[in-house]
Amino acid sequence: MVIHALFGIICGYFVHDIFPGSNLTNLVFWGVLGSLLPDIDHFLYFYFYGKNTEYSKIVRQYIKDKKVRDLVNYWKFNHKKSNGPRLFSHNIVTVLLVLYMFAYFVLVKDTPTSSVIALSFFMHYVFDMGEDVLFMKKLNSNWYLQFKRGQTGKTAT
Ligand SMILES: [Zn+2]
Repeated sequence: MVIHALFGIICGYFVHDIFPGSNLTNLVFWGVLGSLLPDIDHFLYFYFYGKNTEYSKIVRQYIKDKKVRDLVNYWKFNHKKSNGPRLFSHNIVTVLLVLYMFAYFVLVKDTPTSSVIALSFFMHYVFDMGEDVLFMKKLNSNWYLQFKRGQTGKTAT
């Protein structure tokens, strides 16, 4: 999360370079917010579309018991495993869409704030993909629009 926020700050500076007349504080603010927003999908996963997975059940129990440290540890060691969450929003179509939106906001619309939000979303997904490759040596199936395995809680072979 901290690294996502750092990426957001970098996005703010980057977009400020494209639009030197824009307000840097505003861009950094929206950069950080845009970097964190994509992970709201985790809560939708825990409480709605992924709620029946073993992973979500454990997470919800920790939240219910207010065991923050256990939750963070569980999260740290499991969110990049084959039984981890398959987030609907984290897929290749969204990645390409936000990249397209970034180009559109910069080149066509000339809107710094929208540009930094789109860029920070994009960087968030790129970072998550990098993490997948780093920890699992491959991309999680959600990036290819395959969400089933995570739903059933089965582990990858
Ligand atoms: Zn994410």
